[in-house]
Amino acid sequence: MKAIRRFTVRTVLPEPIAPLARLAGNLRWSWHQPTQQLFERLDPKQWRRSHDPVALLGSFNREQLHELAADKDLVARVREVSEDLDRYLTGARWYQGLGAEAPKSIAYFSPEYGIASVLPQYSGGLGILAGDHLKAASDLGVPLIGVGLLYAAGYFKQSLSRDGWQQETYPLLDPDGLPLTLLREPDGTPAQVELPLPNDRVLLANIWRADVGRVPLLLLDSNVAGNDDAARHITDRLYGGGGDHRLQQELLLGMGGVKALRIFQRLTGCEAPEVFHTNEGHAGFLGIERIRELMDEGLSWEEALAAGRANTVFTTHTPVPAGIDRFEKLQVAHFFRAGLAPNVPTDKILALGEENYSGGDPIKFNMAVMGLRLAQRANGVAKLHGVVSRGMFAGLWPGFDTDEVPISSVTNGVHVPTWVDPRIAELARDKFGSGSIRERHWDRVYDVSDAEIWTLRRELRGNLIEDVRRRLRSSWKKRGATDAELAWTDDVLDPDVLTIGFARRVPTYKRLTLMLRDPARLKALLLHPERPIQLVIAGKSHPADEQGKRMIQDLVRFTDDPEIRHRIVFLPNYDIAMARTLFPGCDVWLNNPLRPLEACGTSGMKAAINGGLNLSVLDGWWDEMYDGDNGWAIPTANPSTATGADALFSVDERDDIEAAALYDLLENHVAPRFYAHEAPEGAGAAGPSEPLASDDRLPHQWIAMIRHTLANLGPAVSAERMLEDYVRGLYTPACSSGREIRANRFAAARNLAAWSTRVHHAWRDVAVEHVDSLGMQDVPQIGDLVRVSAFIRLGLLSPEDVCVEVAHGKVSEGDELLETSFDQLILKEDLGDGRYLFSGEVQIDRSGSFGYTVRVLPYHPSLASKSELGLVTNA
Ligand SMILES: *Cc1c(COP(=O)(O)O)cnc(C)c1O
Repeated sequence: MKAIRRFTVRTVLPEPIAPLARLAGNLRWSWHQPTQQLFERLDPKQWRRSHDPVALLGSFNREQLHELAADKDLVARVREVSEDLDRYLTGARWYQGLGAEAPKSIAYFSPEYGIASVLPQYSGGLGILAGDHLKAASDLGVPLIGVGLLYAAGYFKQSLSRDGWQQETYPLLDPDGLPLTLLREPDGTPAQVELPLPNDRVLLANIWRADVGRVPLLLLDSNVAGNDDAARHITDRLYGGGGDHRLQQELLLGMGGVKALRIFQRLTGCEAPEVFHTNEGHAGFLGIERIRELMDEGLSWEEALAAGRANTVFTTHTPVPAGIDRFEKLQVAHFFRAGLAPNVPTDKILALGEENYSGGDPIKFNMAVMGLRLAQRANGVAKLHGVVSRGMFAGLWPGFDTDEVPISSVTNGVHVPTWVDPRIAELARDKFGSGSIRERHWDRVYDVSDAEIWTLRRELRGNLIEDVRRRLRSSWKKRGATDAELAWTDDVLDPDVLTIGFARRVPTYKRLTLMLRDPARLKALLLHPERPIQLVIAGKSHPADEQGKRMIQDLVRFTDDPEIRHRIVFLPNYDIAMARTLFPGCDVWLNNPLRPLEACGTSGMKAAINGGLNLSVLDGWWDEMYDGDNGWAIPTANPSTATGADALFSVDERDDIEAAALYDLLENHVAPRFYAHEAPEGAGAAGPSEPLASDDRLPHQWIAMIRHTLANLGPAVSAERMLEDYVRGLYTPACSSGREIRANRFAAARNLAAWSTRVHHAWRDVAVEHVDSLGMQDVPQIGDLVRVSAFIRLGLLSPEDVCVEVAHGKVSEGDELLETSFDQLILKEDLGDGRYLFSGEVQIDRSGSFGYTVRVLPYHPSLASKSELGLVTNA
């Protein structure tokens, strides 16, 4: 029989164990071992199956609940853990030691969040990063409020057909079974966001609240009774559908998200955010909603734009142009004309996303471009990605050299308590006392013996192998195999063989199948008689990406070969739960993207904090953190360009070269070091399955690399380091700009807007008319001073509106300045008629070719960078 109606009955817990409900409701349990152990104690079997506190509590009947409530020890433990949560939620942490210049509250917008398996609202790295951002903010006491969407089906679940083709299913989530609470008005009705849609329709959304430690996360849900069917489906799935569907999701996220925040402020009395952080372009419409608010307060478009930009931070996450959301301008106009932002001129909104630079498409609306124009501060997610982003968006700042494009970088990090295996955390605790997994203690790993490290690594590998066997068997059953056929899965993988992991989404640039370039060579590595390797592979392809699915199929077919299937496996449905066993269990984490298309990559970081060594192309984070002793670098055939015209090699040649380099590294460097079980007095090297007798039959060099990795990468890759970088480098400066621009009823916003309008109009008359230099010898020498005089025409502008600079440096063959430095020239004389003399001295600080030029830039104290307005006049 089928039920005609379904609802979830919330458990009412007896008073002595009532705090379990709040322990289950705050996602801090997902990275807090003692809370997990408490839930495990309630019903170990059920816990191991689900790892879901809400489901666990819901599974007890009244009788069982009363039994639990009568258990004195348990009740005491519940109280202790609950008190610990109180201390965690209210105590002063790192952020509370900062001064009053730190923002009182920060709003963080992201289209996806990967926090825990019980809340599957992510597709890959972007979401996991957002989850780690919230958790690290919570641990550090950073007053963040997250904003996102609640997708009815999250992302898809992946399985395989018999012939290895990706299958997708979209099981619906029941919000009542999730660790969420509905935001309600004082009268008990759900608090709702309302947006007008074309044709007199409205879009309503409920607001769910998740608690990520100290950080509230607001998730908008359009699946509500007052909506028509189409509106109800807007939040149906993550990145589902194209065109209008996606656009409506992003309008709800950005514009609806700000409205949700305002409702949340009203209902809870929390501080208004002083900084808005847009995690990738999808949430960019938040800037329009804020401009709408400001214009409703009486500011003009220009003033509202200046005020909104001042405290907005935009983070770009992709160096792949195809990874950026673009809509038709007409489509965007269609929605705004319905009254989404009634007093905001639609043509101004459209201009924000316009690709009005060479190579741009005049009919498109580009979300990243809008993100950059709506934020006074922007960043990429690794140093190399900063460089690539400055090049990619240079068209928005014409006249500037690429390295002056105002996009900085903050390298991503990972939330250590989430991603470090409990056994490593426990070892650290045993050795160094409580709290020792915090960054400053990483170097104590030098006090742990080789034998202890190696024993633990073997245990983690063994743990992964158990999980692999279980998953593989279940995958084969879905593919139609019977138990009788599957006896072989019990012996898949060997706990003493060098284990290599590769798991991530499957866009083309990540090159899942590079390892298959020479199948015979890979096979030989897998079946090497003394030094075999084994591979664990996973990854989902976007449902619309046929090429990705074909790569998965090629790989799965390769792994199906009976000769090698005990040494290479593909596991379907890569997710947080799998990842948490996979990272610790792998000796080596492999990454071979097409440089420089991996913005940062974080999975290698998660491997590193568990003692895994990275074997990776020098891309993303690895480009800045590889030091020669913490892993291996796969050389790149076309180092500076992925697909550019100046590539040395064709795509095929490039893949051949890079795959060959990968095989060589594995065969000649990685495997020999792993199996170099150095024995005393000339005894032979141990084979893969030989038991380890004593400390002096261990791969000491390998273990030294593990130690070095933990000690050095541990602190560098942690999300706490990332959060501190954001707070110091972006949030606090953005907050200061925001406060200044708002002071005295937006006096500075009005001033900046008026100045900027004036400068834009007057700029075409600005010119460097003439430059003289004095003191230049026939044969200049290092240390010589050159006196530079520049005759500048400013037209209607005055000298205070500009900064005149001499730019000097090395000169390339094409007369381009390289390694440029800038010195400001000083106003010497008003020559009348809007003409001025500026001068100053330059010291020749290098031998070889030397050159200089003069340029004029707009100057205003409210600008965050010299290039901000995109105006410059070069000599
Ligand atoms: C870390 C992680 C990712 C992101 O990995 P990248 O290396 O950034 O591609 C994706 N999915 C899951 C489940 C993860 O844990």
